[in-house]
Amino acid sequence: MSEELTVESRVAPPALSCPKCGGLLPNELGEIQCSLCSARVRVEHEVTRKKWAAEKIGCPNCAKVLVVGVKKRPAHLKCASCDSHFSVLPKVARVEISCPGCERVLRMKRRPGEREIECPACSTSFKVTF
Ligand SMILES: [Zn+2]
Ligand SMILES: [Zn+2]
Ligand SMILES: [Zn+2]
Repeated sequence: MSEELTVESRVAPPALSCPKCGGLLPNELGEIQCSLCSARVRVEHEVTRKKWAAEKIGCPNCAKVLVVGVKKRPAHLKCASCDSHFSVLPKVARVEISCPGCERVLRMKRRPGEREIECPACSTSFKVTF
């Protein structure tokens, strides 16, 4: 059994809203399904595709810098230097939100829909919607 090596991409497609429900769409390209209303939306962004192909990634095994050369994410690569296989995963968008109780800035992964958050500093619970 070999463990899969992964690297997170640093390039994300633009954040887009669902044309049907106005909620946030998953940060992907191609055929996307809105996780809130299940509408199917086709999203293309050539600039992001070009940046994906030109993106440089450090091999997680030997740290050699490679050009990805693939216009999609996830992309599966083989390092030319150490022959290890690894995947370049889509970038996870993160947002900063300040707590309404103590104004501390919290960083979190941005996922579509409503989430209940408890501030680790002052235990205030509040809801965020993306
Ligand atoms: Zn929707
Ligand atoms: Zn390598
Ligand atoms: Zn707080």
